Amino acid sequence: TLSVGGLVCLGLSYYGSRFMADRAMAPIKSSWQRQQDFVADASHELRTPLTVVQVNLELVKGNSDETVASQSKWLDNSLLEMKRMSKLVDDLLFLARADSQQQTLEMKQFPLNTALREVIESFKPLAETHEILLECSLNSEGMYYGDENRIKQLMVILLDNALKYTPSGGQVSLSLQNWGTLAEITVSDTGEGIDQEHLAKIFERFYRVDQARSQQTEGTGLGLAIADWIIRSHHGRIKVSSSPGKGTTFVVSLPK
Ligand code: ADP
Repeated sequence: TLSVGGLVCLGLSYYGSRFMADRAMAPIKSSWQRQQDFVADASHELRTPLTVVQVNLELVKGNSDETVASQSKWLDNSLLEMKRMSKLVDDLLFLARADSQQQTLEMKQFPLNTALREVIESFKPLAETHEILLECSLNSEGMYYGDENRIKQLMVILLDNALKYTPSGGQVSLSLQNWGTLAEITVSDTGEGIDQEHLAKIFERFYRVDQARSQQTEGTGLGLAIADWIIRSHHGRIKVSSSPGKGTTFVVSLPK
C-alpha cells in the first residue's frame, strides 16, 4: 500500500514529468507551427498569380479567331505573373533549404569593396531609369572571409528595396567602413520610410508594410527574411532605422 506521502510524491512526479515533457516539446511544436504557417502562406501567395494566369489564358482561348498580336495584352499579363511566380518559388526554395540546413555557404577570402562595387554598378541603369541618384563610398580595402555570392545577394536585396521604395528625384547611398574587426555596410535612402510599428516585423516572412501599396511594387515579402538568414549565417547583425516620409537606413555589421 502507498502512504499519503507516497501518493503525493507520485502525483508530483507525474505532473513534474508532464511539465518537463511539455517544456521539451514546446520548441518542436512552435517550429512545426512555423512550418505549417509557411506552407499555408506560400500556397496563398502562389494562388493569386496562378489565378491571374488562368483568367488571362482563358481570355485568349475564348478569342481563338483573333491573332496572337491582338491578344498580346493577355499574354503579357500571363508572362509577367509567371516571372513573379518564378521569383517567389526561388525565394521559397532558398528559405526551405535554409530551414533544413541544406543551404550551403562557400566561404573564402574576397575583396568586399570590389564585390559591392560590382553590385552597385549593376543597379546604375535601374537608378537612371527611375531618376534616383545612386551614391557609393567604399572606404575600406582589404579582404573579407565569407560567401561572396551570398553577400552580393544580400546587397541586391537591400539596394533593390531602397530603389523600389524611393520615388523619382530621391537618393540611395551605399557605404562600407572598417571598424577594427567589423566591416560595416550602410544602405540608406530618401524614400517613403517605414512606421515604427512595422520596423520589427519587416524581417518576417511575407510581411509587407502596406499590402495595398506593396501590391503596386514588385516583391515577395521574402527578401529581408533571406537577407536576415545570410547575415546570421555570417555571424553578423542588421539594424534598421527609419523616418516615415524621409527615408530608411539599414546597417549591416559583419565580423571579418
Ligand atoms: P518585398 O519583396 O515586399 O520588398 P522584403 O522582405 O524585402 O519584401 O521587405 C519587406 C517590407 O519591408 C516591404 O514590403 C516594404 O514594405 C518594407 N521595406 C523594405 N525595405 C524598405 C525601404 N528601403 N523603404 C521602405 N520600406 C521598405
